[in-house]
Amino acid sequence: MSITADLNLQGEKRMRVIVAGGGIVGLTVGLALRAIGAEVLICEQSPEIRAAGASIGLWKNALEVFAEFGVGDQINAIGTQIEAWFYDASGNRFRAPGFDVADHSFLLVPRPALNTLLADAAGSENIKLNSRIVGFEEHEEKVSVRFANGDIEDADLLIGADGVYSVVRNRLVPGYPAKEHRGHHVWRAMIPSCGEPAEGSILTVGHYRTRGGYSRTYGGQVTWMVNQFESEIPTGTKKEEALRRAANLNDESLIKLIESTPEEAILHNQIMFVPPLPRWVSARVALIGDAAHGLSPHISAGGTLGIEDVRVLVHLLKAGPDIQTALRAYEANRIPHYQMVHRLSLDVEHSVDAREYARFYATFSHWMLNEGSATNF
Ligand SMILES: Cc1cc2nc3c(=O)[nH]c(=O)nc-3n(C[C@H](O)[C@H](O)[C@H](O)COP(=O)(O)OP(=O)(O)OC[C@H]3O[C@@H](n4cnc5c(N)ncnc54)[C@H](O)[C@@H]3O)c2cc1C
Repeated sequence: MSITADLNLQGEKRMRVIVAGGGIVGLTVGLALRAIGAEVLICEQSPEIRAAGASIGLWKNALEVFAEFGVGDQINAIGTQIEAWFYDASGNRFRAPGFDVADHSFLLVPRPALNTLLADAAGSENIKLNSRIVGFEEHEEKVSVRFANGDIEDADLLIGADGVYSVVRNRLVPGYPAKEHRGHHVWRAMIPSCGEPAEGSILTVGHYRTRGGYSRTYGGQVTWMVNQFESEIPTGTKKEEALRRAANLNDESLIKLIESTPEEAILHNQIMFVPPLPRWVSARVALIGDAAHGLSPHISAGGTLGIEDVRVLVHLLKAGPDIQTALRAYEANRIPHYQMVHRLSLDVEHSVDAREYARFYATFSHWMLNEGSATNF
């Protein structure tokens, strides 16, 4: 279904929306709201639109949302279609029985290029950089948003797309700060391709709760990642730590890729998550993306799910009859959805070996792409 431009959301008055955060989800909700005729200001705390991380796997349901809001072809043009395979630490390649290629396929997209493209589509005149939101006050007729420099801006609606450390969430739902996913560390990088086999995406589920792999991506680049559950606190250099974990994966190509990566090109993260929230909205404020449901990335889908939040929220705002009704319906749709995501994601996390991991992973992706998809909304 396509959404027509210039819809007048509130009869005589154009709805004004402030979006906190210019990450993947904030930029997407900004451009989608503009497509239905809202006035949008995306406020990003950084001096530029930049993406943390190398690349992101976007599943079919996110790509459908991008297509609906007019950026599908551009995103396809910078992506690499990936068919994921699982490996065990003995090098056996397999997929979960009973699932097909569609449940293992996604588009791998370089994050910096994606965010630049989304920012262009949202329109630079609708993005305010160096603008950190520090709080808000809700009134019957408006929400007043406070900035770190003392400015205050009014809007009809504030959308918190400000990531796992969300200021908007901390004010809307106090007592739910981001938590460490204890012992879960990730090392990753994107470097020029250097002779690794070009076999789609390799994900090895190795010994000692280590997972990792690599994929070729856009522009002759290759992206690699090493994931470790139940890790002690890393003390070595990023490269030393990544290599130490990669040894559990028995993949010479991955080891060579890490060895060829300059230390400064390696990103290391302690993984954080957002505990399930009792509410996502108030009368004039809504959470979206990682601000509402930051997940451990072992299901590689947090961004995709956040893009689906955009579709649900924007369709409800378009349907009306007013913001409050739309926000209540959005929350009523999303909270049970994420209860299911959490349940399926925990199965993946606690799988005992590579084959069980593959089975639970495919169970999740199959659900997300079918009965859990926002295109059913
Ligand atoms: C290692 C790893 C691998 C992953 N792989 C995948 C994958 O393959 N596929 C997938 O779908 N997902 C993946 N994810 C998840 C995905 O990266 C996230 O779900 C997604 O980036 C969340 O986007 P967001 O816009 O909600 O938040 P963010 O990307 O965190 O953006 C938030 C933005 O808000 C800004 N901001 C924060 N506070 C304020 C404030 N107070 N005022 C103004 N601006 C503010 C920040 O500067 C930032 O730009 C992965 C995550 C990790 C960690």
